Amino acid sequence: MLTINQYNFKGEKVLIRVDFNVPLDAQFQITDDSRITATVPTIQKILNDGGSCVLMSHLGRPKEGPTEKYSLKHIVSRVAELTRAKVLFADDCIGEQAKEMSQNLQAGEILLLENLRFYKEEEKGNVEFAEKLSKLGTFYVNDAFGTAHRAHASTAVIAQFFNSKKCFGYVMTNELENAQKVLNNPQRPFTAIVGGAKVSDKLLIIENLMNIADNIIVGGGMAYTFAKALGGNIGNSLCEDERMPLTLELIEKAKQKGVQLLLPQDSKIADKFDNQAQTSFCNNNEIPNGYMGLDIGPNAIETFCKVIEASKTVLWNGPMGVFEMSSFENGTKAVANSVAHVAQNGGFSLIGGGDSAAAIHQFGLADQVSYVSTGGGALLEYFEGKELPGVAAILQNSAEQ
Ligand code: AMP
Repeated sequence: MLTINQYNFKGEKVLIRVDFNVPLDAQFQITDDSRITATVPTIQKILNDGGSCVLMSHLGRPKEGPTEKYSLKHIVSRVAELTRAKVLFADDCIGEQAKEMSQNLQAGEILLLENLRFYKEEEKGNVEFAEKLSKLGTFYVNDAFGTAHRAHASTAVIAQFFNSKKCFGYVMTNELENAQKVLNNPQRPFTAIVGGAKVSDKLLIIENLMNIADNIIVGGGMAYTFAKALGGNIGNSLCEDERMPLTLELIEKAKQKGVQLLLPQDSKIADKFDNQAQTSFCNNNEIPNGYMGLDIGPNAIETFCKVIEASKTVLWNGPMGVFEMSSFENGTKAVANSVAHVAQNGGFSLIGGGDSAAAIHQFGLADQVSYVSTGGGALLEYFEGKELPGVAAILQNSAEQ
């Protein structure tokens, strides 16, 4: 792995792609700065070596160019506070001002560029735009795992302008090393837990995990497409009818490969999608019309938790039910506790980003699991077996080739 530890950045102006896409409230105050905190070690290593940092990031999804709400100027003071360095701000990410500020930047200083996505060229992966950005630094570091699955100008295309002067930052290195712990030679038994709303989002990951996992647990809304495909009555539960044949194929594939595919036997059902709904429990193939399954039931919880707790490696992506509502959080909570149990017993547990990360934080268990990934889509694609453009771009033409 090409990490920044292999380099000394004295005299370098290091252009770092960071993920400072932090949530802001109506007064533009940061409500969760963990993405900035995560990048501080990378920035400090470069500054301590005697280099300077030019930071580039996106924030939100601006549609029409510069928008006050999505300006990175709102986060300058927090970056300065967390890095304890002088932070300058360029109100455009390319152009004369940015160039001049970068040229005048002193060792130990940071220059934060305005939101990359104020230019459509960023997401289009435009080469000229990437080249303009590249002029702002002498060395390129990618530390934005959350966007590593995108072939954007700043995440992938830009790397071609740095020959071998490019590497991963600590955030990227950590994410990749932890994902590889699961993908390459996991301690067995290895159990993958896949949940969430839509089966279509998770088909590829289930298929790829069949090559490495011993057990695959399927929960959440996506389990009802399997149940209906198997001939069950699922009432008004979530279902993607067009995906039913594929779920049957997955069940067959699991049998052929000797992988135990576990579906929930029962559900907590509700008469409406509401925390105050009338609820009861029933088997997953006997959900009455007018009711929907919004959480796994007590039998499924017992079975799933036993399998998880007997595992040495666990990967978890997607909740077991509508955990955002207290009436339907039990399944996700029980699974989260069992996942924590694995790490407490010397096993390894990796939590995929997005909703599983939100759930593990909601239940106060984030410090009891081995690793909580920051990258939802990127991690998913990594486990689907896809090449991440942000990773490939660093490895190309580099010393590690
Ligand atoms: P995903 O983004 O696909 O991982 O899905 C996460 C979302 O799935 C969460 O917001 C959950 O509330 C939702 N979800 C989980 N189980 C169910 C279910 N049985 N019915 C409806 N939504 C669900």
